[in-house]
Amino acid sequence: MQLISDPAEMRQWSRTQRAAGHTIGLVPTMGFLHEGHLRLIDNARTKADLVVVSVFVNPTQFGPGEDYSTYPRDLERDRELIRDRGGQCVFAPETADMYGSDPVVMVRAGRLADHLCGPHRAGHFDGVLTIVAKLFNVVEPDVAVFGRKDAQQARIIARMVEDLDFPTEVAVAPTVRERDLVAMSSRNTYLTPDERTAARAIPRSLAQAHSLFLEGKTDSASLTASIRSVLGEEPLVDIEYVEAVDPDSLSPVTTADSDTIVALAVRLGKARLIDNIILGAGVEADEVVG
Ligand code: AMP
Repeated sequence: MQLISDPAEMRQWSRTQRAAGHTIGLVPTMGFLHEGHLRLIDNARTKADLVVVSVFVNPTQFGPGEDYSTYPRDLERDRELIRDRGGQCVFAPETADMYGSDPVVMVRAGRLADHLCGPHRAGHFDGVLTIVAKLFNVVEPDVAVFGRKDAQQARIIARMVEDLDFPTEVAVAPTVRERDLVAMSSRNTYLTPDERTAARAIPRSLAQAHSLFLEGKTDSASLTASIRSVLGEEPLVDIEYVEAVDPDSLSPVTTADSDTIVALAVRLGKARLIDNIILGAGVEADEVVG
């Protein structure tokens, strides 16, 4: 397996592979990999001959006061996990390799960042789009795989590809959950044992909204209120937002249907955690490890 840090070398590797007739799948990550990331590699392997996993904690998607400096990092471990899962190349650039000294131009998410995480993380999705655009230009993948755990991110990236004519297919893979249905996240490492137990309220609240929907409740206000009430039973959980949005426009809907995305963000100790379901599918439709 290749480990590459230089963008020019990365592009050369990809071009050589493509010239030899291979297709390339890209799995962008910020590292500290867990099973959720590894299943994106599995997914990419079904869609492309060779899989490149990028490991880069992208400074432009963190706001002031967010966890950029404390974000967990362990490239050696990541590299072994990627190799064992069948990836052919790890692209792990330094910040200076990707951004140089004075980057000015960025990709903007526009109104797709008006709801959900956008208002709470000013500039976050512009940072995400900018790094993903750069990774696409460096790796030149045929397909890139993202997780539905970050549903807003996946949608915004798909829209960037559509609006800016990137020649890359965007695939979205299901959320991967721990046995107790808490969504896997590198940020779960911030949780104390009590906070980790309290986090179970997150999938429980989403499962309740799904049940209410199946019983015929479709007004978004009642569905999000039921989520708030389940989360409210956990004193350690501090709600940032709960919203029901259209899967394409990411705008709030007043009447939900089975395609509606119900998404939330909470603060739990040092961690900010997000989760979501497709309302008609529920938590049960996601993947559970173990
Ligand atoms: P991150 O390293 O957190 O930036 O995530 C890199 C990719 O992994 C993104 O496409 C995420 O959506 C995806 N991902 C992270 N956690 C999960 C999960 N629990 N299930 C599925 N995909 C995930």
